[in-house]
Amino acid sequence: MWFTNAALFARPGACISPFEVIEATHAVVNAPMHACPHCSEPSFSPLRKFRSSGTFPGRCPACGGLAFVSGWGHALSSVVLETSFWGALFVALLFRRWVALALFPLALLVWSLVVSSTFPLRPIEREAVSAARFSAVGHVFIAAVVLAAVLLLV
Ligand SMILES: [Zn+2]
Repeated sequence: MWFTNAALFARPGACISPFEVIEATHAVVNAPMHACPHCSEPSFSPLRKFRSSGTFPGRCPACGGLAFVSGWGHALSSVVLETSFWGALFVALLFRRWVALALFPLALLVWSLVVSSTFPLRPIEREAVSAARFSAVGHVFIAAVVLAAVLLLV
């Protein structure tokens, strides 16, 4: 069970060995599959579920239905991933132990398990995916215009 493997990382002050990273990877690969919200087949692996967003939903291999994890999961993922990336770099530089850089992929693995066990999969239709992608392109365009304006003013 992945809960027992994940408990390895809860030890305060524990040094992370490559074996523990392998254990975490093994736990993610062998974690239970999640049911498709369209056909109820257990066809979504934790990693597939973790990667499924409104703009890039996961496709069920059984029925072809599209599903995604709610936006809150992705918003929290952004915070966790950013914090773990810079945190791992900071710890590696502070203690001059490059193995600390393994904290980042380890955080990715653990967080993918948290997302897959916490946030539900929701069905989404093709039209909603197209609308989400169109909206994302609009946001990127606005950000590019604002960035260009800032660069021209500086
Ligand atoms: Zn399905």
